[in-house]
Amino acid sequence: MQTPSQHTSPLQYLKGVGPKRAKALESIGIHSAHDVLYYFPRDYLDRSRIIPIKDLKRYAGKGEQVTVVGEVFRFEVKYAKKSRRSFFVLTVKDSSGYLQCVWFEGVQWYKDAFEQGELLSLSSYPDFDKLGRVQFIHPEFDRLKGAMEEDEPDWGKMFNTGAIIPKYPSTADLTKVGLDSRGFRRILRNALNSHIHEIKETLSNDIRQSGQLVDLPFAIRNIHFPENTAALETAKRRLKFDELFFLQLMLAFRKRSIKEDTNGISFAVESKLARQLVDSLPFELTTAQRRVVKEISDDMRMPKVMNRLLQGDVGSGKTIVALLAMLIAVENGYQAAFMAPTEVLAEQHFRTLAEFLKNLPVNVRLLIGGQKRKLRQDVLDDIHRGSAQIVVGTHALIQEHVEFGKLGLVVIDEQHRFGVMQRATLRAKGANALPPDVLVMTATPIPRTLAMSLYGDLDVSVIDEMPAHRKPIKTAVRLEDQKAKVFDFVQKEIAQGRQAYIVFPIIEESEKVDLKAATAGYDRLSKIFPDLKLALIHGRMKTEAKDAVMREFKSGAIDILVATTVIEVGIDVPNATIMIIENAERFGLSQLHQLRGRVGRGADQSYCILIADYGWFDHSKGLAEMDVQREKKSAKVRLETMVETTDGFKIAEVDLQLRGPGDFFGTKQSGMPEFRIANIVEDRDLMMLARKEAFDLVVSDPHLRRTENAAIRRHFELRYKEIQSLGEVG
Ligand code: ADP
Ligand code: MG
Repeated sequence: MQTPSQHTSPLQYLKGVGPKRAKALESIGIHSAHDVLYYFPRDYLDRSRIIPIKDLKRYAGKGEQVTVVGEVFRFEVKYAKKSRRSFFVLTVKDSSGYLQCVWFEGVQWYKDAFEQGELLSLSSYPDFDKLGRVQFIHPEFDRLKGAMEEDEPDWGKMFNTGAIIPKYPSTADLTKVGLDSRGFRRILRNALNSHIHEIKETLSNDIRQSGQLVDLPFAIRNIHFPENTAALETAKRRLKFDELFFLQLMLAFRKRSIKEDTNGISFAVESKLARQLVDSLPFELTTAQRRVVKEISDDMRMPKVMNRLLQGDVGSGKTIVALLAMLIAVENGYQAAFMAPTEVLAEQHFRTLAEFLKNLPVNVRLLIGGQKRKLRQDVLDDIHRGSAQIVVGTHALIQEHVEFGKLGLVVIDEQHRFGVMQRATLRAKGANALPPDVLVMTATPIPRTLAMSLYGDLDVSVIDEMPAHRKPIKTAVRLEDQKAKVFDFVQKEIAQGRQAYIVFPIIEESEKVDLKAATAGYDRLSKIFPDLKLALIHGRMKTEAKDAVMREFKSGAIDILVATTVIEVGIDVPNATIMIIENAERFGLSQLHQLRGRVGRGADQSYCILIADYGWFDHSKGLAEMDVQREKKSAKVRLETMVETTDGFKIAEVDLQLRGPGDFFGTKQSGMPEFRIANIVEDRDLMMLARKEAFDLVVSDPHLRRTENAAIRRHFELRYKEIQSLGEVG
């Protein structure tokens, strides 16, 4: 989360910085001594747990992790006679003895990884080898070269001081100007000496007491140079609380201002159009859909701005619910905007909506990037005049200068993105008239407590029921060498009139590589299925070309659609019953779940077959051995989870555990606040505490006018300046 630069004495005058380093620091968003103090360590070297090698015996086999600091004495690759496999042995020494460390995997990497005499810290669970000597197997290690202060050259003495040493994140560019971990340590010492007095308390005594939180200067000092483990823990807790508390406070203010607001559109919710649509549907709405439609229309009737999150798994039928809401707006003489995360998806939605509405007098328009100038202008005019009653597009609909005649409802389909800021832009947009109601849809169910941390100002509706008559999809994992069998199965299903998807992974770094993999895959598959009609679809194709292929697939003229993940969000083809995912080990869990959601849409039994090649991780470059093991394990969990359940909530939970919140929520693109230190998964309890304090505070001192809350108010205004215009503090 951005912290404001409260004090602006130029960075370069900070002791140990100078112009060059100041510039490097600027590039990572550090503009003042205050910012420096908020550059937190990524980890610590706990010298208080460092054990002399000769004492390791006492810990062997006890299942307790310990750390040894020693220098590299010798290393070599050896061969096991029986298995003929190679392994790597590293011997380190300290002043008390020698220790063997063994790696059975990643030998090629380790053999060039160390230098004679290099100083390492190694952590592991010590154990005895066959000859009764203590050894470390696959220890974690850190290079300590340059890790210590220059003024502390006496290693032996230093390791007994029991201190905890901070390790700072750095980059190649920062290291070039001397800002490696050690460089940061020096600068932080100086910054603490000269600027700690500028750190002002941000919480009230009340909140600090009830939350048992240490004061802020203490926390800042101890997050960098902890007096001991306990001090470090209390410092972390305090700083995490700060982040969570001020986020919750922002949400609390927003929620209040929305609640109190009577400045929204009050729609008449009896809609003939909606009724007509429901009557024309070839299916009955599920109970969950009906409940959710009621929740939404109740909101729309009220003269306050609706701000509602609609959660529902892939295929649960969110689109029709959104459409019914849009028809209410249309019936009241307003326009509705429907925003999708990608253009492909916007087109898909457009087509779906147009199909649903084909017998109703409603004008639906599509606005996306690739359109011809003339058409685009026509659409824009239509939107401006208000004659475009429903407008489908990407998020650019509100970001660019699209002028609506009379916008009443905005539906945001976020799939698995999460936006907080985006909604803010929206409300600002309705300045000339009453602000539009907002419905945010997401296909990635998120656990309730987490939803609160992100969407604390939103009301939540959940579609927790799938349309009836859907057979649960059968999911299986197969290994590379079982592919022939899988393809036999595909052949048989297609002979019975079904269709299949075969998906190849996206390798983020290069679209070109992706394309090559998919094209090669397509060629291979064409040979395997010489009698079938195959087509290839990928992200680099022109929209029209993609459309053509999709239409053909939908019509049944294509048997197998070979694709990169572009189909993830788009297509709805009930006759497609097979989803084969190649290199499934490389996909994220939510992504796999989304892909699987492309089948199982008709009445026939559908199948999802995940083809796994775990060996891939061994060859992928840039992965250290430890990471390879971790990646493999996590891939296995992902695939097993897919086999075990089709419940989107469970899948989201596992995904969140595996990836951590940053990745899961796609922080960067979503506008969700970035935490420096808090973690909304691990710190759930602390978040609930922060939330309670924040929401209570808004009740007890709605405008933060009391003296004891002055610090909170000052900090809140500083930190959330950009959001201030929306959250009326008073
Ligand atoms: P979501 O957007 O939630 O992933 P969709 O709205 O795309 O799901 O719906 C998936 C499919 O199910 C669509 O073909 C839709 O027409 C259909 N559908 C929606 N509601 C029902 C229902 N109550 N009964 C049967 N089919 C439904
Ligand atoms: Mg949908």
